[in-house]
Amino acid sequence: MKIVANDLKRQHDMYAEEFNNKAIEVLNSGWYVLGNEVKEFEKEFAEYTESKYCVGCASGMDALQIAFRVTGVKEGDEVIVCSNAYIACVMGITMNGGTPVFVEPDEYDNLDADKIEEKITDKTKAILAVHLYGQSCDMDKIMELAKKYDLKVIEDCAQAHGTKWEDKKVGSIGDIGCWSFYPTKNLGAFGDGGALTTNNEKYAEEFRIIRNYGSKKLHYENDIIGMNSRLDELQAGLLRVKLVHLDELNDERRKIAKRYFEEVKNPLIRPLETRPGSYNVYHQYVIHCDKRDELMAYLKENEIGTIIHYPIPPHLQKAYEYLGYKKGDLPISEKYADEVLSLPMYNGMTDEEQNFVIEKLNEFKG
Ligand SMILES: *Cc1c(COP(=O)(O)O)cnc(C)c1O
Repeated sequence: MKIVANDLKRQHDMYAEEFNNKAIEVLNSGWYVLGNEVKEFEKEFAEYTESKYCVGCASGMDALQIAFRVTGVKEGDEVIVCSNAYIACVMGITMNGGTPVFVEPDEYDNLDADKIEEKITDKTKAILAVHLYGQSCDMDKIMELAKKYDLKVIEDCAQAHGTKWEDKKVGSIGDIGCWSFYPTKNLGAFGDGGALTTNNEKYAEEFRIIRNYGSKKLHYENDIIGMNSRLDELQAGLLRVKLVHLDELNDERRKIAKRYFEEVKNPLIRPLETRPGSYNVYHQYVIHCDKRDELMAYLKENEIGTIIHYPIPPHLQKAYEYLGYKKGDLPISEKYADEVLSLPMYNGMTDEEQNFVIEKLNEFKG
């Protein structure tokens, strides 16, 4: 049995007719960028994320770049970020001239809130809370520190559509939530897309201006130097269709995760545990294994696909050589990069497929 790490076709097939109908409707509408579908999606996604405002943009990367710009991060400013985050998180900071200050992850593979305070200086402007793998950061501690030191909190929710911290949806807790609708995300488009959420009216207004060449109007009056980062009507329309099903899609992921938790019984394989207070949506189901490369190769031999999120931490990437880090500087994230493995997890995965994966995991001898 051949099992891929992620099969997007399965999810598409579940609602194919609805997607097809919406696509045809948008194509026939004669209006393709920043129109009614975008407006309605922004309303519906604001409501879903329990935020006052949502503004669509072209990608998760752009959302991050815009969020740091609007919160005033510039040359000389520092932003606290988890050292095992995705590269886009760090780029959002540095594209504005800011400096990432890496904090090691905790046992839940995201920002260790107890290690933030020691990294705060008089240059610190913001904390980027990345809800990696669909698991919430400890937002109580992060918000408390932000209040104490007057810092902005940006939430990277690109892997966390529907994740909750206590009884609150992520993306509504900090100052700004940044979202990606890249096709593999829990709420994935059929191309690129992104959004920002906030409860701050002034920020929302700035998002709208920046995404459209710095113009408040649709065309030709430019108040500031903006970008072209618009969500298109086709993506917004298709996202509206999928948003209606997001909770059931997340429930299915949670069921798959539950089976992995309960049925993978191999001492060589350690599941990533759930942080108390977090309601996880399992963008990835991640395990740690000291013999990760052997496990990955063994699964591949058995035609089971897996992915490493992520094999090289940002501070060791060539792009960030100028920051001056070397191997050994951030030992926890470096260790995690050698240990983590994302198991097959996708909507439409059958019991039979998961049985096979679990059986092979349990047979792994190292
Ligand atoms: C996917 C992702 C992004 C970037 O989103 P794009 O839409 O691909 O630009 C940012 N942060 C995290 C945590 C992501 O997983």
